[in-house]
Amino acid sequence: MGAKILSGSEIAKEIREELKKEVEDLKNKGVIPGLATILIGSDPASQVYVGQKTKTCHNLGIFSDQYTLPAETNEEELLSLINKLNNDPKIDGILTQLPLPKQINELKVLNVISPEKDVDGFHPINVGKFFTVKDFNEMMEKNLFLPCTPHGIIEILKRSNLEISGKEAVVVGRSNIVGKPIAMLLLANNATVTVCHSKTSDLPAVCRRADILIAAIGKAKFVTADMVKEGSCVIDVGVNRTKDGLVGDVDFEKVTEVAGSITPVPGGVGPMTITMLMVNVVKSAKKRLI
Ligand code: NDP
Repeated sequence: MGAKILSGSEIAKEIREELKKEVEDLKNKGVIPGLATILIGSDPASQVYVGQKTKTCHNLGIFSDQYTLPAETNEEELLSLINKLNNDPKIDGILTQLPLPKQINELKVLNVISPEKDVDGFHPINVGKFFTVKDFNEMMEKNLFLPCTPHGIIEILKRSNLEISGKEAVVVGRSNIVGKPIAMLLLANNATVTVCHSKTSDLPAVCRRADILIAAIGKAKFVTADMVKEGSCVIDVGVNRTKDGLVGDVDFEKVTEVAGSITPVPGGVGPMTITMLMVNVVKSAKKRLI
């Protein structure tokens, strides 16, 4: 039979069409949303990500200001650029592409980006707000900057009419950018959530409980068919570069025979991440009208 494929690419396209209209509307009111991206060094994957973000800005009519700095850039230079952008009225969002080189303290940098321009949702003030609001609708009403990948996952589920409330959700991975925040967003949507990691005992048994299984591990094809409950929804966040090309954390071929629905890699969570970043930039630009 095969699982229903949840196309993040299609859903992202739908959201981008909505965003184009919002950007047009803002322009008519004299506001051009602006995103500044900072890339340090020449890591090929980071170059691709920043390039995709810049291209998406252009497609949506968002002003994009891309800074590419040498690998040996020191912390002071980076912080001074961020401070300049914090005070630039054309810029609504600032994004520093992670990971940063060793000589730069990531936490310090994330702390310096103004919380009003923190479109990644990584500033401790924004993380704090997001952890203390209990209900997802309230998060929306309060216009919080939700972290992009987790927010994208919620949009995939909602726009595919998959029920979250009351479901058993299992998240494999507990990173600050994916595992922990997606657990919070599922909880805010009334799922019962279990978060797993490398020390979880009998991981396959825990995963088999899941109506919604989120794989954010970073290991190619780690989630196998025997770990998946029949008819469940499987969201594959993983991006692993192998000799066979890009693959997710889920053994897609085998798991599609068991799951009810599944996101592919590529074309699943990836395009949603960039799209939700644009949602945050537009959200931030709208605040200029208040
Ligand atoms: P991290 O490396 O920060 O976290 C990986 C998590 O997986 C850790 O919590 C780790 O547990 C857990 N883990 C590792 N091995 C096992 C194991 N054997 N059993 C159970 N849990 C395990 O990764 P990220 O969260 O940053 O990213 C995860 C994946 O998602 C990567 O492939 C990344 O490229 C991708 N990604 C994709 C995005 C997209 O837009 N599509 C965006 C962001 C990330 P422990 O904490 O115990 O070490």
